[in-house]
Amino acid sequence: MTNRKDYTDNCESCVTKPCQIGCPLNNDITGFIRCLKKGEDEQAFHVLANTTVLMPLCGRICPHLQQCEGKCVKGVSYDRVQIGQLETLVGDEALENDWEISAPETTKYKVAVIGGGPAGLTCAAFLRRNGIGVKIYEKHDYLGGLLVHGIPEFRLPKTIVQKVVEKILGLGIEVEYGKELGRNLSLEELKSTYDAIFIGIGANNSNKMEIPGEDLEGVYGGNEILEYKTPIDYQGKTVIVSGGGNVAMDVSRTAKKSGAQRVIVVYRRSEKEMPAEKKEIAEAKEEGIEFLFLTSIIGIEGNGKVEQIEVLDNELVQKEGDSRLSPVPIEGSNHKIPCDYVMMAIGSHADDFVKDLPLKTEKGRIAITKSGRTSSAKIFSGGDIAGAKGTVAWASRSGRNAAYEIIKYLEEEII
Ligand SMILES: Cc1cc2nc3c(=O)[nH]c(=O)nc-3n(C[C@H](O)[C@H](O)[C@H](O)COP(=O)(O)OP(=O)(O)OC[C@H]3O[C@@H](n4cnc5c(N)ncnc54)[C@H](O)[C@@H]3O)c2cc1C
Repeated sequence: MTNRKDYTDNCESCVTKPCQIGCPLNNDITGFIRCLKKGEDEQAFHVLANTTVLMPLCGRICPHLQQCEGKCVKGVSYDRVQIGQLETLVGDEALENDWEISAPETTKYKVAVIGGGPAGLTCAAFLRRNGIGVKIYEKHDYLGGLLVHGIPEFRLPKTIVQKVVEKILGLGIEVEYGKELGRNLSLEELKSTYDAIFIGIGANNSNKMEIPGEDLEGVYGGNEILEYKTPIDYQGKTVIVSGGGNVAMDVSRTAKKSGAQRVIVVYRRSEKEMPAEKKEIAEAKEEGIEFLFLTSIIGIEGNGKVEQIEVLDNELVQKEGDSRLSPVPIEGSNHKIPCDYVMMAIGSHADDFVKDLPLKTEKGRIAITKSGRTSSAKIFSGGDIAGAKGTVAWASRSGRNAAYEIIKYLEEEII
């Protein structure tokens, strides 16, 4: 950051703190910036650490314009307060200088956290900081969840994720890798050993389009490609990416950077309605990714493997009761686009076994109260698996909320 002073001086320390309201974690943004203005960087870290353990990560990849920065009284003008950059600065300094939040001795209570993504890591950290013993059970052989196997390296360096994870584990948290709920780990088994359980297993299975040809070779789920690093030969190929969110941007940019000749994002509404961050769309365009707006894929064709897609043009219509304009196909506008691969990035869903857990579910995800309680007294949940708003900060907030609710449960309700 070249102009730290400019960024901090832009902050007017508003009494109403709209930025704090816009931050899913409710970070005391004016408070930490006031410390930075005085050159008290370690104190700025402590102000932020009251509410977050993911500073250098949220600083880099939160959709700031839709959250804290979007609420700043300066608006989104050129001289707005660059909150994300300032949070990154403090988070990086904390890692470099080993600034600590210490955790007290463990009490008699022990909690199992299933899943080590933003929700699970945050829940574990806030529990441990409050003296509770914690063990994380994780299906992969690393922690971080989508911070590692979703958001690509070109947006979030994995060395930083690893350092943040190490810092969190340094609070005295145990981990067992290769443990997967629904496969070699059961709630029953954990219930008999732990005082409470937090489930934060995410929901990273790509939705299907339910159109003909989806089972052809060369059709992939975007979430799975990123998570399992599916080895695909992109060289000289044409890749169609269906969707308009951040996952579509990450999948298309990954394909282009891996050698694809053409990458075409097909989105059914117009650019204005695209849910992806403007910055991501701009960078994708700069990298040569093509966009086909107001277009729906209605079929995938090929002899055993993908050869072309059939699309229809749409017009946008305001339907009664809908907050967004709806795409309506224009009859007779069908045309075909030759391609080698089709990648779905139109949302994601939870693992199938979730609906068989002894817990109430809603739309395939675990139903929770605002504070993270499930329908079972001892079991709490948060993050994408419990329908959090699909960003790292929201997942982290629900992990933190659940940690405080678990503490309340342990102190007040456990027999
Ligand atoms: C490609 C992509 C890009 C994104 N970009 C952004 C972005 O730029 N900014 C942003 O704020 N958000 C972004 N998001 C959304 C954000 O990453 C998620 O909302 C957030 O990671 C959810 O956190 P979580 O802890 O609920 O789930 P996850 O991050 O999915 O973590 C779940 C953890 O549980 C583990 N697990 C899964 N199943 C089991 C099981 N059965 N047993 C044990 N462990 C299990 C997983 O391995 C993982 O470690 C992106 C998502 C994707 C897919």
